[in-house]
Amino acid sequence: MAPAAALTGRPAWPQARNAPPGGAPESGQDLPPRLLLKDYRPRSIYKIPQSDIRKARFPIIDAHCHGPRPLDGLPEWVKLMDAVGVEKTIIFTGANSAAKFSEIRKAYAKFPGRFDLWCSLDLSGAGGAFEASAVKALKECREAGALGVGEVIDKGWGFRSFRPQGGGAARTPGPHADDPRMDPIWDQCAQLGMPVNLHVSDPIWSYQPMDETNDGLMNAYRWRIDDRQPGILGHDALIETLERAAQKHRRTLFVASHLANLDYDLTRLGQLFDRNPNLYADVSARFGEIAPVPKFVNRFLRKYPGRVVYGTDMTYSQRMFSNTFRILESEDEHFYDTYQYHWPLYGCGLPDSVLKKVYADNMREVLKRALRGAG
Ligand SMILES: [Zn+2]
Repeated sequence: MAPAAALTGRPAWPQARNAPPGGAPESGQDLPPRLLLKDYRPRSIYKIPQSDIRKARFPIIDAHCHGPRPLDGLPEWVKLMDAVGVEKTIIFTGANSAAKFSEIRKAYAKFPGRFDLWCSLDLSGAGGAFEASAVKALKECREAGALGVGEVIDKGWGFRSFRPQGGGAARTPGPHADDPRMDPIWDQCAQLGMPVNLHVSDPIWSYQPMDETNDGLMNAYRWRIDDRQPGILGHDALIETLERAAQKHRRTLFVASHLANLDYDLTRLGQLFDRNPNLYADVSARFGEIAPVPKFVNRFLRKYPGRVVYGTDMTYSQRMFSNTFRILESEDEHFYDTYQYHWPLYGCGLPDSVLKKVYADNMREVLKRALRGAG
């Protein structure tokens, strides 16, 4: 699995097995009754416009990326960034100490102006008393060049100290975003002019029963969380922790990862935006989730043009970028890409004014606002 995907726990876009018949599941008349959902690979045969957008209509800031693994893949990434129109990428280094951060920074320093590096939080303080050590590590990371914090992840069992090199996280329940122990940390982020990318929950279907009524089953089963309840916070409760943190820390700028996992309920995301002027959201790794409802997404983003930022959270490839451009820019209908879900995808046909903001202007605003609010 691609490193970026490994970090987020969600597949960038699972490799479609839409290989020629040789690679497809066995065929033949009696196949349908035994065809498994996970092997379903429909191909659209509609004779309708098909866009192949190689470069974004406006310059891009990718606000959600974990970078290549290993780092010697960087030159190729930069070449691709030039080809598809990515001006700058925000890298979640996963480093929660100045030493680790500085080590990773060496590789990116070869490409000045193309990458902003963000650090993670050190929440490993003894016995849960992590506030002081976390604030100290944050200040040191800022001095070492970190421009933001993220991605900080809570899918129900709280934040954890994060070890970047594929070690995964220590399996002890950690604090949620509204935990009072997080207060000095969120305040320190504001003080240092560092926005925070905060991942709460996951796609709603992962929390629902894994049965024939689950619309998102094809992907949700891979990332199921339903079987971890009751010991963890559920989807709704997690969204509330995000709002409480944003309300309590008005000087801190929060970017909710993945549309706050409210891709299926954008009205609620809009209400969060209305109540919390310091809250934004990135659309990363949720293109498959917005593409079935293009008209509603179009209206939503025209109502909130200044609050959503472009992000990938996927391994860089021309195909990945083109698919995101097709979903944001085109009015294409009924197409498939990498079969993350069983449903077909549609283009949202966003107007230039909204595209320009989502692609880069909004994230520029977040970075400027954070620095203005510093000190
Ligand atoms: Zn991520």
